[in-house]
Amino acid sequence: MMMRSSVLLVGGYLALSACGNVDAQIDPAATAAAAIASGEATVAARIEADVVYLADDAREGREAGTSGYESAAQYVAARLATMGLEPAGDDGWFQQVPLRAATPVLEAAAISMTGADGVTTMLAHLDDFRVFPSLDATSFDITAPTVFVGFGVHAPDAGHDDYEGLDLNGKVAVYFQGAPDFFDSEQRAHYGSGSSKSKEAAARGAVGTISLMTTERQTRTPWAQFISNPSRVSMTWVGPDGQADISGPGLKGSATLHPDKAAMLFEGAAGSYAEALAEADAEGVAPKGFDLAATVSIAGGVSFEDVDSPNVAGMIPGADPALKAEYVVLSAHLDHTGINQSLVEEGKDGLNNGAMDNALGVATMLEVASRLMEGAPPSRSVIVLAVTAEEKGLLGADYFAHFPTVAKEAIVANVNLDMPVMLHSFSDVIAFGAEHSSLGPITNAAVAEAGLALAPDPFPHLGVFTRSDHYRFVEQGVPAVYLFPGFANGGEEKFGSFMAEHYHKPSDDLSLPILYEDAARFADVNYHIALDIAQSPVRPHWNEGDFFGDLFADD
Ligand SMILES: [Zn+2]
Repeated sequence: MMMRSSVLLVGGYLALSACGNVDAQIDPAATAAAAIASGEATVAARIEADVVYLADDAREGREAGTSGYESAAQYVAARLATMGLEPAGDDGWFQQVPLRAATPVLEAAAISMTGADGVTTMLAHLDDFRVFPSLDATSFDITAPTVFVGFGVHAPDAGHDDYEGLDLNGKVAVYFQGAPDFFDSEQRAHYGSGSSKSKEAAARGAVGTISLMTTERQTRTPWAQFISNPSRVSMTWVGPDGQADISGPGLKGSATLHPDKAAMLFEGAAGSYAEALAEADAEGVAPKGFDLAATVSIAGGVSFEDVDSPNVAGMIPGADPALKAEYVVLSAHLDHTGINQSLVEEGKDGLNNGAMDNALGVATMLEVASRLMEGAPPSRSVIVLAVTAEEKGLLGADYFAHFPTVAKEAIVANVNLDMPVMLHSFSDVIAFGAEHSSLGPITNAAVAEAGLALAPDPFPHLGVFTRSDHYRFVEQGVPAVYLFPGFANGGEEKFGSFMAEHYHKPSDDLSLPILYEDAARFADVNYHIALDIAQSPVRPHWNEGDFFGDLFADD
């Protein structure tokens, strides 16, 4: 039913594009189409029209795998077709991303500890621990010795290895969440991520992991909050070989232990939990690992649901005979977080329309595509990519970065847009990640060309560069830049109040006073950056000795 009505709307849109005749009273899709199809709309009006369509209630929050997302994808494909781009998916405009959703079976979760004295203690699920499902088996049940591995970080470039001298084969790795504070914020975000830790533990033959919270983590995410949504669905993609993408193959399951139960795990070992915690909390040091005396049993179960959701890809072929075989990928996530059922049950607006996050980013990207189509073609080819399942863990971008629809080694750069909060008349921009590669000078020049100032990262402690779709390209060795409106001229306050009041809430919708004239200026800056990268005579490259370049690029 929903699917049919979505298709009808899109069909209506396509028909309108062809004839340019519309009754604007009927639906927002028609209004959007009219503004664009007239060919006379200002840039601001075109961006607004796209946002109005994508953030309309009829899209139901564009959650990956839903018909609301599907109709948004059809819309973007139709827009790209109208502009004259070439389809660049696997199947026309689309690249289907096979997604797997795993819902925990709460009754299956169990954990017990057997100490050196042979006494076994059963723990209570959620009160004492939380089990996380593996995404490649519906159930697991392991019993294994345990090893404390500090933060579980292996950073060869920095000469740091928490696994040094420890044997993890067939054992459960026990580590503190996060990473030592002597790494800079982006390195800390990388080494502290769950996926980096799973990879390191799995590579050493571990069969499971138990994570512990530092004091800072306990404060940031109190236990009650940590367990508040135990049935939360986790997602990954399934590759062409039928294997789910998981960061630690061989790890059968993982758990997080309540801070009050952690001391038990260390009883009879060479060091105590209190000492380990104190070292993990302290500045400039990291706790050393050692074998623990306890054996743990961890069990859990999940149910799987597999669903396809498309990335949308269009191509602007390059003009240079040699450089056209290289591709600059412009990306923006099209999905959002869907319907909040508990709000709906309370009779409230439960639709997470995602106007700013990321209808506006997609609309901005479409405007950049339109500008690129208007002028002489760039030297390199440009792929315009609207990705799915960002909100599920950057999955659509990760799938495209693993299985691009063009030769993988021919992708030279990524320019990403995600939630450009446009509630102030910006006078500067932030280019996350630009300083790591030759995209930095190009971005600087393009920003200056647009008459704007480039501001430094306002949240160096957050490692923002590792937190949106572009990072999936970075992990494949591709230099990337993520542009964001700067904080001058009142931006900081507007951004702060947006995050507090509207981020990932139903009120991130069309009632926000989005400044479309400024969005048009923002699209202009993006256009210059994208064009200059596509025109650059030298292939974009990581800076010599750059952390991400050394970590992920082949040469
Ligand atoms: Zn979001």
